[in-house]
Amino acid sequence: MTATGRVFKIQRWSIHDGDGIRSAVFFKGCPMRCAWCANPESWARPDNPDEVWELDRLMHELRRDEVFYRESGGGISFSGGEPFAQPAFLRAVAEACAERGYGTAVETSALFNWEECGDIVPLLGTVFADIKHMDAERHKRYTGSSNEKILENIGRIIACHPNVIIRLPLIAGVNDNEAHLEAVCSFILTYAGKSSQKVPCVELLPYHDLGLSKYAALGVPPPHFATPPRERIETFKRLIQNRGLCVLP
Ligand code: SF4
Repeated sequence: MTATGRVFKIQRWSIHDGDGIRSAVFFKGCPMRCAWCANPESWARPDNPDEVWELDRLMHELRRDEVFYRESGGGISFSGGEPFAQPAFLRAVAEACAERGYGTAVETSALFNWEECGDIVPLLGTVFADIKHMDAERHKRYTGSSNEKILENIGRIIACHPNVIIRLPLIAGVNDNEAHLEAVCSFILTYAGKSSQKVPCVELLPYHDLGLSKYAALGVPPPHFATPPRERIETFKRLIQNRGLCVLP
């Protein structure tokens, strides 16, 4: 029986989340509820039959831009929602992409069961993993979930994967302070020090309110957050570089 999954959007010609020209596959569903989520349709919109995709149909869709993946060094990005929340489908799509020689990348909150999903991690070309807050209480307050399993999984990903990028959403008044950035760097360096893999780079993602109109359309109260000032972001970049980590871009 062919694998089936829930996908709420396929975005062609994406140039984020990996090298070259990409198709981004947005998996429906997420175990978290980040207060600043830019893709609330991934968890707030009721399921509908159009979002159910069979593997063959999805691969047929992705093949349309195959020539561009090859010529640009691009490929397929798995986003969401949380791709690892549908492990059987993610595994099947990752394997099908590997068979066709497509590069792959995943964006993950890292909130998943390692026993169920750990074998998928090495199938993916690049892993973008988010750290939203190092403090357990503040993490739970702003995302609805503990950060314990997330940090444990990110440690495991760093241990086994050669191409990891740690993403830090920066939300004014929530996690945009030097002490937090120091804690993130210490965490990465501790796990990287125990790993034989390449040391992960860090990517800063300043909050944006581009998703606000989606909240209105979904009838969900919109978040009220602000972007840290540009000079603060530059300060954070220097702080991370001074700890010996690379910062993207
Ligand atoms: S993990 Fe990502 S998709 Fe899920 S709620 Fe948080 S920001 Fe939204």
